Amino acid sequence: MTAPNYGLIAGPFAGSSQLNAARRQLELEALAGRPHVDLLVIGGGVTGAGVALDAAARGLRTVLVESRDLAFGTSRWSSKLVHGGLRYLASGRIGVARESAIERGVLMTRTAPHLVRALPQLVPLLPGLLRPGQGALIRAGFHAGDALRLSAGTPGALLPRVRRIDAERTRRLVPGVRTAGLRGALVAHDGQLVDDARLVVALARTAAQYGATVLTRVRAEDVTGDSARLTDVLTGESLTVAAGAVVNATGVWAGEVDPSIRLRPSRGSHVLVDAAALGHPAAALTVPVPGSTSRFVFALPQQLGRVAIGLTDEDAPGPIPDEPVPTDGEITFLLDTVNAALSTALTRADVRGAYAGLRPLIDTGGGSTADISREHAVLESPSGVVTVVGGKLTTYRRMAEDAVDAAVRLRGLPARACWTARLPLVGAPGHRDSRPLPADGVPGSLLARHGGAAQEVVAAGELVPVVEGIDVTRAEVAYAVTHEGALDAADVLHRRTRIGLVEEDADRARETVEEILTECQKA
Ligand SMILES: Cc1cc2nc3c(=O)[nH]c(=O)nc-3n(C[C@H](O)[C@H](O)[C@H](O)COP(=O)(O)OP(=O)(O)OC[C@H]3O[C@@H](n4cnc5c(N)ncnc54)[C@H](O)[C@@H]3O)c2cc1C
Repeated sequence: MTAPNYGLIAGPFAGSSQLNAARRQLELEALAGRPHVDLLVIGGGVTGAGVALDAAARGLRTVLVESRDLAFGTSRWSSKLVHGGLRYLASGRIGVARESAIERGVLMTRTAPHLVRALPQLVPLLPGLLRPGQGALIRAGFHAGDALRLSAGTPGALLPRVRRIDAERTRRLVPGVRTAGLRGALVAHDGQLVDDARLVVALARTAAQYGATVLTRVRAEDVTGDSARLTDVLTGESLTVAAGAVVNATGVWAGEVDPSIRLRPSRGSHVLVDAAALGHPAAALTVPVPGSTSRFVFALPQQLGRVAIGLTDEDAPGPIPDEPVPTDGEITFLLDTVNAALSTALTRADVRGAYAGLRPLIDTGGGSTADISREHAVLESPSGVVTVVGGKLTTYRRMAEDAVDAAVRLRGLPARACWTARLPLVGAPGHRDSRPLPADGVPGSLLARHGGAAQEVVAAGELVPVVEGIDVTRAEVAYAVTHEGALDAADVLHRRTRIGLVEEDADRARETVEEILTECQKA
């Protein structure tokens, strides 16, 4: 295993994965004193955090800047699936499908098994739901997905094989399913993240442990192939950093950082309902979109007692909003589609929240955004900036490896070979700070979110819910501030926990979160 490089700072944070306001201040001062690094990474989504980890683990002096917060952009608006690439197989893109299946296996077996679980996805066999022949097509697709899993070396014990189940078992997995005429269901398994933003935070913390400087609320401007002006948006102070290479990992904002990049963002939306509205499902319900053979709407069980129903794929031209919003039409489409498979139809009154994200798709000209390749690209612009864009959450590691390889090759940086496929993230079994899971009295939800870091979380505060009916504890809020780089209540509510996906829940929890934040910042 490669020894960590301890980056810009010595002292209490050297070799530590802790991110917080005090470390941020020390790192900013250290950078101002020595504004020269091997690699500057712009953007703290899954791609940028992955690049920072890859580079730091190869021994490069690495700085990551994020203008708002970790996972502020698209990375928190996903369906939270770790895909095996079945969708790409259906359109003949075998290379993308295989890459997805391999990366899914890496996440589930080595780098982040604590954050990813196997999710059964079932297609109910209901009269009128599938077009003639569609059942056979779906079954064939599922079997092809199984073959991909096998070829990627992911064991069947982790992701069980495709099977058909009877009506009774279908009802047990998704109690809200329509029962009239139900003949059972086809079931396949894929990976599901407990939360996408948590993956980003785990990546950034692991990068910091390997010596990367991770700075949130720092915007990059005037970016060239070997420098950028960095502005601390909290104080307005700026400094210019010289870098051996600059990687632009700003997703849908990539064209703002490097005007030679042309993207065609596509909006994907989800609505959130209480899990109770579907009878607390233990599996995802997959419902074909009428008139399409390859599009589906999914009802995905989530943490915090919610179900996310998604998703759409709509052209989203024009200026990039900070937080995209679903249209009324998208919400109607999602409810109408899923209702075809439910015994009690969901109405607008069931919708507790809704969110939308923009896919950073590469502009390939005409056609529907659904047809644009999800492959990633590493591009060197005339100004020398290396941009990594496209792809998806599941393949972040491979995107990061390709981007760092390109930067190393183009600029002759002194880096070792990539080894992130063997590098467990904070909280994963095998990570050097991971401890056995604490016994009785610790909520399962806390273990699912923190894995081998749970003991540390428990030590950070009380195991009392921050607010009635939500299983996030006061200890987790404190830990978000002391270890996970949350700088204000919005970071806690919207990125470290996902309480904020339901506005009403965020309003109920805000005061307590602010109180804990103040206590932690005083300590
Ligand atoms: C609705 C939807 C569902 C999806 N579902 C899945 C799924 O289930 N599984 C899957 O594998 N993939 C999924 N994806 C794809 C995946 O979410 C994205 O490909 C991925 O999150 C993109 O991450 P990113 O880091 O490239 O961009 P982002 O997460 O957008 O990160 C870019 C960051 O750059 C920062 N930034 C911008 N400008 C600057 C600047 N000048 N200085 C500093 N920082 C800056 C932004 O604040 C932002 O945080 C989905 C996408 C969408 C839209």
